[in-house]
Amino acid sequence: MEFAQHLSDHRVSEQERTKILQNPGFGNFFTDHTAVIDWSADAGWHNARVEPYGPISLDPAASVLHYGQEVFEGLKAYRHEDGSVRTFRPGKNGERINASARRLALPELPVEHFVEAVRQLVAVDQDWVPSGDGEALYLRPFMIATEAFLGVRPAREVSFRVIASPAGNYFGGELHAVPIWLSQNFARAGHGGTGEAKCGGNYAASLAAQMEAEAHGCPQVLFLDPTDDFSVEELGGMNVFFVLEGGTLVTPRLNGNILHGITRDSVLQLAREMDLTVEERKFTLDEWREAVANGTLKEAFACGTAAVITPIAELRSAEGTMVLPETTSDSVWGSIRAKLLGVQRGTVEDTHGWLTRLV
Ligand SMILES: *Cc1c(COP(=O)(O)O)cnc(C)c1O
Repeated sequence: MEFAQHLSDHRVSEQERTKILQNPGFGNFFTDHTAVIDWSADAGWHNARVEPYGPISLDPAASVLHYGQEVFEGLKAYRHEDGSVRTFRPGKNGERINASARRLALPELPVEHFVEAVRQLVAVDQDWVPSGDGEALYLRPFMIATEAFLGVRPAREVSFRVIASPAGNYFGGELHAVPIWLSQNFARAGHGGTGEAKCGGNYAASLAAQMEAEAHGCPQVLFLDPTDDFSVEELGGMNVFFVLEGGTLVTPRLNGNILHGITRDSVLQLAREMDLTVEERKFTLDEWREAVANGTLKEAFACGTAAVITPIAELRSAEGTMVLPETTSDSVWGSIRAKLLGVQRGTVEDTHGWLTRLV
């Protein structure tokens, strides 16, 4: 697939970009271009192009605006010491957007076109890839139903886009353990629903719980499955892990409601290589409480592309606060995080072939 290049004649100045890259935060600034591929039922995928970043012209009847037919991805591009730019397991994101697309009745995009769109965008906007510790260029591929039609059926016109945003620490400032809010009034997914799809609707449905969390000083929400003994599912946008006494790493099994995190999968692989006992299984709130009470729970952490690995300090709920043990410098989360970040940044050997060079 050939990408036409319509390059911007009003790029952000070098001076302005340098200032932005000094403290990008998360999701605040966007690069000069976007990569686009259109789809129609008649023509399939066509009109691949890189064009200047800017507002999209959409018909007010476009189905994404009414029925939320949308899926997205998130991955990062890292600047290596030799100046090259690499991304982490992009084929997995390509496969996952197709799994999400199937659930939302959107067309599948061949994985090689997905990766090429990412490569095209990063190539023209490579000056935006930061080189600081913990910094990367966050890439947001997404697919929206653009057809102007108010009947309820899968759209016959769709657009796939990639935008990019320089990113520092997701939760702002230095890495520290975060308090998590336990959502008891809301669920993020139900059996047979869209919990496994990375779609905007799941996030829209999580915002009321997120507001509750923020009102209680928590940056993230933990969701349980009320139909399965209140077993732990995940946070609004991150998977969760528990470390038990004796070096056992537990994470909820993929039960159809949980997002198949690529960080989750990578953590599991690294943990097995570190000779930890790895268990993907049901983990209930009761078991969590008991393990804290009897001292067998050593660590809990959340993981995802945006925030990498973040330890959980405590679980707050309407019933009170459960404080988790303070983790030490030889923590399991710390050593997995160091390995994962090292591979991503090119300072630890990539023995799995997880990196793809973009520039
Ligand atoms: C994206 C996402 C994750 C993390 O997935 P990664 O591939 O590790 O970035 C976890 N949970 C939800 C709900 C997500 O949307």
